[in-house]
Amino acid sequence: MMQLLTIFKGKTWRRAPGKVNMKKLMMAAAAALVLCGCAQKDDNTLRMITEATFPPYEFLRGQEIVGIDVEICRAVAQKLGQGFKCETVDFDSVIPAVVSGKADVAAAGITVTEDRKKNVDFSIPYVTTGIVVIYKVAEPYTGVESLKGRRIGVQAGTTSETFVLEQVGQEPERSRSPAESVAALKAGRVDFVIADIDPAKNCVKNEPGLALSDFVSSESYAIAIRKGRPELLQVINETIAEIKADGRLAAWVEQYTAEADRLKD
Ligand code: GLN
Repeated sequence: MMQLLTIFKGKTWRRAPGKVNMKKLMMAAAAALVLCGCAQKDDNTLRMITEATFPPYEFLRGQEIVGIDVEICRAVAQKLGQGFKCETVDFDSVIPAVVSGKADVAAAGITVTEDRKKNVDFSIPYVTTGIVVIYKVAEPYTGVESLKGRRIGVQAGTTSETFVLEQVGQEPERSRSPAESVAALKAGRVDFVIADIDPAKNCVKNEPGLALSDFVSSESYAIAIRKGRPELLQVINETIAEIKADGRLAAWVEQYTAEADRLKD
C-alpha cells in the first residue's frame, strides 16, 4: 500500500469548475477500488515477504525494494499471471509470515536448513553460497578458536547466529542487519561479525580497515512457502530452472551487485 501511495503521490485530483464530471468521478472510484483491493489477500496477487537489508538480494532503492530475490519472485508472479507486491520485515519474521499466510513467498537470501524445513517447504536452490567472518585487519580471524570468548555480531535469526551458538558455543550480539553489525564492529562494540558473503562484501567495500575470511559454511538459498502448496512450489521451481537456463539470473546478479556497490560509493 505504501508503495502504491508513493506512486500516486504528486497527482492531485482537482474538481473541475462548475458541475462534477461524472466520468472523472467514476475513474476516481475505480482507482480507489484498485488501491483497496491490493491491500487485501486476493488470488491475483503474489505477495512476497523479504528483509530488505541484504544487498544484492534485496535492498532499498529510495522507497522501492529491489534486488535479485525480488526479480525471481516477480518472474514467478508473471508465470502465474498474477500481480505482484513485496513487503519487508525483520529477518526473523520472514518465515513466520508465510507460515501464517500473510505472504505467499518468502525470499530473503534464505538458507535451506533442516530446522526450517520443519515449518516451510523450500524450492530448488537458486544459489550456492556461505557465511564469512568480517574482521579488523588489525586483528585477523585465524579460525574458530580466535572467536571464542569474543563479542560476535550477527543478524538475528540467521545461520550466522546458529553458527555462533553451535560452532563457537556462545551467545552472539544480535542486530537487525549485517550493516548494523558492521557499524558495531567499527565502533568497537563487537570484535568480529559473521554474515553471508554477498552482503559482507558490500559492507566492507570502501572500508580498508576491514577484511573477510574464507567461507566458514556452505549454504544454498531457496524460496520458502507454506507447507501444502504443491502447485505454487512447482511454478517456483520451473521459474528458477528457466531463469538459470536463459541467463536472467546471472544478469540480475551482475546488475544488482553493481547497483548495491554504487550505493556504497
Ligand atoms: N542466509 C542467511 C540465513 O538464511 C541470512 C539471510 C538474511 O539475513 N537475509 O539465515
